[in-house]
Amino acid sequence: MKILVINAGSSSIKYQLLDLEDVHHFSLLASGLVEKIAEPVGRITHKVFPGSPKEAKVVEDRPFPSHREGLSRVVDLLCDPENGVIRDAAEIAGVGHRVLNCGEVYSDTVRVDADVKAAIRDFFPLGPLHNPANLMGIEVAEEFFPSAAQVAVFDTAFHGTMPPKAFLYAVPYEWYEKFRLRKYGFHGTSHKFIARAAQEFLGIPREETDIISLHLGNGCSMAAVRGGKCVDTSMGVTPLEGLVMGTRSGDIDATAVEYIADKTGADVHQMLVALNKKSGLKGICGVNDMREVVAAAEGGNERAALALDMFVYRIQKYIGSYLAVVPNVKALVFTGGIGENSDGVRARIFQGLEHLGLVLDPEKNAIRSPEPREIQAAEAKTKILVIPTNEELQIALETKAVIEGREI
Ligand code: ADP
Repeated sequence: MKILVINAGSSSIKYQLLDLEDVHHFSLLASGLVEKIAEPVGRITHKVFPGSPKEAKVVEDRPFPSHREGLSRVVDLLCDPENGVIRDAAEIAGVGHRVLNCGEVYSDTVRVDADVKAAIRDFFPLGPLHNPANLMGIEVAEEFFPSAAQVAVFDTAFHGTMPPKAFLYAVPYEWYEKFRLRKYGFHGTSHKFIARAAQEFLGIPREETDIISLHLGNGCSMAAVRGGKCVDTSMGVTPLEGLVMGTRSGDIDATAVEYIADKTGADVHQMLVALNKKSGLKGICGVNDMREVVAAAEGGNERAALALDMFVYRIQKYIGSYLAVVPNVKALVFTGGIGENSDGVRARIFQGLEHLGLVLDPEKNAIRSPEPREIQAAEAKTKILVIPTNEELQIALETKAVIEGREI
């Protein structure tokens, strides 16, 4: 079944076209990115059969006044008589849309209808950068793929199983009742993919899938999973809360916002831009790319070393607290650009955690592979896994399940 996965941002559309049977039987027909939509000159980078010997790439610089023109070009390239991967847009059975948040309205993937669109719109205030773009992506896709099922996959959905004691903030209760203020959590599609993949790797039933999942990329989050279900996660009402990230502060005393606003004359909006875009690794040492941070730290840059220490220390504290929440933990699972690729960051995280039964095998940790693997030492009490995430595949699988009326 051919499924198009779309991740529409405010000025971009990321997409993948997959032909899939199940999680182990799929092929990637095309992938690409339309960027700088509504700027004088935009760009489309389109690849056919990415990662295979038949891979070919097209890059075009041209204006895309809106998402509509962007997606129109994607359809043309997909159906191109010479280099296309399908003959007709009608071959696409479903379009899976990554959608940031619809709060508590939908706790699972759904086929898009007027109610779903209203719920996405209703959550514009809690996802001001993403939800409007996600909705636009859906509306444009409905136009170009009228016979396909449009399916919304929410980044928050996996976290819908958290109990109130985990998702509520200890603030006046009516803020939750009236304004829906609570922890929603993000990266849910990735954590869900990881929980299923870890279950399969460990060869255990879902009810016994008790893991701690660490998605460490430019954005970073952790999820505590019991019986295959999320019971706590580090991101909050927005992706700002929790771990130290590339440019986000993670946890911070809210009073700091008022204090620095008073000192600098910034308003609340400017403060939140600073906490989201100028903080984290970047705030401490000036760069947000972990490869650069590690290289600078190893070259003797003290701020970079401090940023790395802070990044690692926050993760260690969350591991400690999630071990209390997941008492029968079977594995800690690393994913995301940093989690999958940085043996140095993984090694730092486990320095000093031996008393918790968490010990890495340095040789296994150093191995590079796209395959799921375990990297703990023989004497470790808990397994430590590295599993590459694949959010697009998860979205495509869920879209297929919705089309076939199967449970996800
Ligand atoms: P996003 O959250 O934007 O999807 P990714 O999951 O691709 O990001 O992760 C990007 C991060 O992964 C960057 O900080 C990058 O430096 C880091 N990364 C990728 N490869 C390595 C590596 N070999 N060593 C350290 N960090 C890496």
